[in-house]
Amino acid sequence: MYFDTAEGPVFRPPTEADSFILRVTIGCSHNRCTYCNMYRSVSFRIRPAEEISAQLRRAAAYKDHIRRVFLADGNALVLPTASLLEILCELRQTLPKLRRVSCYAGPRDILRKTPEKLRQLQAAGLQLVYYGMESGDGAVLAHVAKGVTQAESIAAGQRIVAAGIKLSLFQLCAAGRYPAQR
Ligand code: SF4
Repeated sequence: MYFDTAEGPVFRPPTEADSFILRVTIGCSHNRCTYCNMYRSVSFRIRPAEEISAQLRRAAAYKDHIRRVFLADGNALVLPTASLLEILCELRQTLPKLRRVSCYAGPRDILRKTPEKLRQLQAAGLQLVYYGMESGDGAVLAHVAKGVTQAESIAAGQRIVAAGIKLSLFQLCAAGRYPAQR
């Protein structure tokens, strides 16, 4: 469930089909991965607190049904930690049945957060991060303009896990490059 469709398309992982989608940004701050055109047509911006609160006031009408919230769009961890903590606090106050908060995160945004800041976010309710690692090969990461080296990519995933946040990794798969299953 989501309310805002005026500014570009809304994307979420398949596992968030029953979640309330709270758009804390519009688009993706990186927006350069060669294989991804999700937010190409959208100018990236972080939404001001009043826009986020307005969505939450509308969600409050469904507070007895919303158990999961997904923070969209492409990389919610680009927000300052203080802003994310305020949003997580507002979510808890608005949605009494809330059980899980998740988001997409890019590796550069993860690495900009110190381990302590990530632990604060976990303690405030961020339980799951979907991270598009795409490949463990540094040459592939450079080729697809992921914006990090192999070592940085691994460190980003490890930092999420070390903070006690569940990590869901995406990997690219080149169709036709693998033997057919028997
Ligand atoms: S970071 Fe994610 S949303 Fe942004 S361009 Fe890359 S794959 Fe797309």
